[in-house]
Amino acid sequence: MPAIFDQKSRPLWLGRGRRHATKHQRSVLAARDKGCVGCVGCVGCAVSPNWCQAHHVGRWEHGGGTDINDMCLLCSRSGGASEMAL
Ligand SMILES: [Zn+2]
Repeated sequence: MPAIFDQKSRPLWLGRGRRHATKHQRSVLAARDKGCVGCVGCVGCAVSPNWCQAHHVGRWEHGGGTDINDMCLLCSRSGGASEMAL
């Protein structure tokens, strides 16, 4: 399975090899997004990362990968139209 790692050898780009975000990916998303980023085109609703799920930006069924730059944090309210990558 191809994967790209961060500086501490933890995989952040998992491509199509894995559908669900890893614990480490979630912690990196929490540091980057600092909470819910809102729906596409909306301002983030600032819900804490603890109440968010990792979502694919591109839908998995349409070829989206489990990559750190292809995921974002969304709360359950904002993420309704998106696909969870938990
Ligand atoms: Zn939200």
